[in-house]
Amino acid sequence: DTRQSTIKVLMLPWLAHGHISPFLELAKNLTNRNFHIYLCSTPINLASIKERITEKYSRSIQIVELHLPCLPELPAHYHTTNGLPPYLMSTLKTAFEMASHSFDYIVKTLKPDLLIYDFNQPWAAAVASSHNIPAVQFLTLGAAFVSFGLHIFKQSGKEFPFPEIYLHEHEGNKFREALHSSVNDVKEEDRFLEAMERSCDIVLVKTFKEIEEKYINYLSVLVQKKIVPVGPLVQDAVNDEHGEIIKWLDKKDEASAIFVSFGSEYFLSKEEIKEVAHGLELSNVNFIWVVRFPVGEKIKIEEAVPEGFLERVGERGRILEGWAPQAKILGHPSTGGFVSHCGWNSIMESMKFGVPIIAMPMHIDQPVNARMVEEVGVSMEVVRDGIGRLHREEIAKVIRKVVVDNSGEVVRRKARELSEKIRLKGEEETDGVVEELVQLCRKKN
Ligand code: UDP
Repeated sequence: DTRQSTIKVLMLPWLAHGHISPFLELAKNLTNRNFHIYLCSTPINLASIKERITEKYSRSIQIVELHLPCLPELPAHYHTTNGLPPYLMSTLKTAFEMASHSFDYIVKTLKPDLLIYDFNQPWAAAVASSHNIPAVQFLTLGAAFVSFGLHIFKQSGKEFPFPEIYLHEHEGNKFREALHSSVNDVKEEDRFLEAMERSCDIVLVKTFKEIEEKYINYLSVLVQKKIVPVGPLVQDAVNDEHGEIIKWLDKKDEASAIFVSFGSEYFLSKEEIKEVAHGLELSNVNFIWVVRFPVGEKIKIEEAVPEGFLERVGERGRILEGWAPQAKILGHPSTGGFVSHCGWNSIMESMKFGVPIIAMPMHIDQPVNARMVEEVGVSMEVVRDGIGRLHREEIAKVIRKVVVDNSGEVVRRKARELSEKIRLKGEEETDGVVEELVQLCRKKN
């Protein structure tokens, strides 16, 4: 009887698209191996991924809604980081934590065999422990960044060069500031350490050995737990809906267009919007640029970009407001470069679809990610000035190098090779994850 051996896993990702999306892909891989998944999040977050739970998964992945209290500071029921003004991020974390009683009720009712939780919520692991349910942390970050962060904590503030990855002064300052900020009187750094501590025996990481082996090894030394890579976990790109943007791409030459996006959480400053626009104009390369403003801010794109920009670029460029079908665009043969903030999911998607990166890291893990992908050889970084400002000429120069110039061929080739490697790899990481999770559940019984 297969039902008897089914393992029931409750998943609780952080309320960001970049977290819920890899949790969903992991869920899909596990259900193919006789797991049953309860994917728990807020209604607004679940709505954004519902269409990816196709018929095939409709029985094995069950959606569980978690309702957060409506705090007056947050836009009504806006319980997601997507489009949330940055100053409200800690309020959202507070609201999430306030839902721990509802989460406790969910755990009691569903009685899962295992909880998989995110680094932002050690409290969820504590709820599971109180019901004697093992909890495993799943890091949707890269092993390079996590080991970099831990390396810095362990040196207790002393500067210490990390193997082969460096931060510029302006990046280091921002990073330290973020770690020392607090939510509910708990420093982010301590929350992170607690989440790591609470994970039993193993920690899952969204990565694969071919690119991060030495960091995976170093991380396991730092945390004294087995680090289990779960693979790139990228959704498939299906170019089935011939939306306007795909039709536009269809008309462009192979690898002649760039996709420009800075993820679901970062908002460019006015100055950055100007420099990026001028950079795109100077580069003379086809582009799709996703421009986003925080929810509630009524800004017109025509007013944010330099005067006459849209007319001057004409058919060469497209601006999308708010959201783009990123995987579809990266998977399209006309896309030949990705101007990216180097969010971890964006990097994995770029690698999977063989699109070389023009790196423009903004904050948090992105500078470390950018250095890591340059080391892998699939990216070139836009260099900022000493105080961290972007310059249009440099942006245009790196775009042309990666997409057009002969000197960029080495990066383009490496991106193609890595993509092929990922394609051929199959499901070896899933095998490893399944084995570990089954062992954990056996141990408990
Ligand atoms: N994404 C998308 N369309 C957008 C912006 C983002 O589909 O317009 C997806 C993107 O494909 C990726 C995720 O949202 O899977 C963003 O995650 P990432 O780690 O790259 O950046 P973050 O949003 O966490 O900064």
